[in-house]
Amino acid sequence: MKIQMLDLSEQYLSMREEVLQKIDEVMSSSRFILGENVKKLEADVARYSGAGYGIGVGNGSDAIHIALQAAGIKEGDEVITTAFTFFATGGAIVRAGATPVYVDIDPVTFNIDPSKIEEAVTDKTKAIIPVHLYGQMADMDKIKEIADRHQLAVIEDAAQAIGAKYKGHNVGELGTAATYSFFPTKNLGAYGDGGMIITSDGDLAEKARVIRVHGSKPKYYHHVLGYNSRLDEMQAAILNVKFPHLDNWSEARRLKAAYYTEKLNEQLADVIQTPIEKEGNYHVFHQYTLRVPHRNELQNYLKEAGIATMIYYPLPLHVQPVFENLGYKKGDLPETEKAANEALSLPMYPELERGAQDYVIEKIVEFYSNYQNDNMQETSVHEELKAIG
Ligand SMILES: *Cc1c(COP(=O)(O)O)cnc(C)c1O
Repeated sequence: MKIQMLDLSEQYLSMREEVLQKIDEVMSSSRFILGENVKKLEADVARYSGAGYGIGVGNGSDAIHIALQAAGIKEGDEVITTAFTFFATGGAIVRAGATPVYVDIDPVTFNIDPSKIEEAVTDKTKAIIPVHLYGQMADMDKIKEIADRHQLAVIEDAAQAIGAKYKGHNVGELGTAATYSFFPTKNLGAYGDGGMIITSDGDLAEKARVIRVHGSKPKYYHHVLGYNSRLDEMQAAILNVKFPHLDNWSEARRLKAAYYTEKLNEQLADVIQTPIEKEGNYHVFHQYTLRVPHRNELQNYLKEAGIATMIYYPLPLHVQPVFENLGYKKGDLPETEKAANEALSLPMYPELERGAQDYVIEKIVEFYSNYQNDNMQETSVHEELKAIG
């Protein structure tokens, strides 16, 4: 049996006719940039998130960069974020001219630990970027409380969390703005690159719209430095076909996640840690991520059994070579570094079959029963996690 992390083919087959027709419409219209399809998707995604405005951009990385710039973040400013994220979060801060300040994560959710934010605030701090990692929103009440007290912008990196909820709030409702990625593997994926900023701040929305067209306003007059970063009509047309299915896909992901959790906990509750959905959260399981002992050995074992798994992320941003000048060293963010050694994401997508999940579960259980027989030692991350609280 071969099981991939993600298989997009079934989803495509289920909507092939409609997608091809929409692509044909775009081609026939000869309107490829910032037309009706982008406008419709912007309005629909903004409404879905309870935000006033949507601004379609070239990708999720640019969405963060442009949102920061539109929120007034500039050279010399500091932006607090997590180091346990995809590179783009830190990259966008530096591209906006600012300095990333990395704080540690909550070991239970893998998201930024709000209790560590305050001590990182200086008179240069201008924004916080919580990343809603793996599809679960960060602790927005506490983040917002700190942000309000220090008058900081909150830009939610929701690349992995479209459709997630926190205490009844959608992504983007509590922050100044939120950013989505439509990279093909994301929960709402295009057939190429794409991204969007959502916000209810009309001024920020207008600035972002100008920045994505080279800072041009009126046309050919430039008061700010912008870029060429637009969601294109073809991708927007495809996303307009896919978007109405998003909630069903999120539900399907949650069912797969619940099944993994139930079965793994039946047999390995003392050995591995399954994902924890915090009370009040609606986790959309972009990734189903375990904490496991002997992670690399397990990954190899599964690979040999034909099962793909991924490590998101093996090297946290504070110790990435490109950020060396920031002065962080190994040991500065212990929870982040621990997570980078223990996290393992299993195959997860809405069409994932029960039989495939059973096979994955069987092989994980098999690995630990062999391993424990061979090593006769307690192998548990669970106890440590419980001790942390
Ligand atoms: C995917 C991702 C991005 C970047 O999105 P792109 O569309 O690939 O540029 C940013 N942040 C996080 C957390 C992501 O997962």
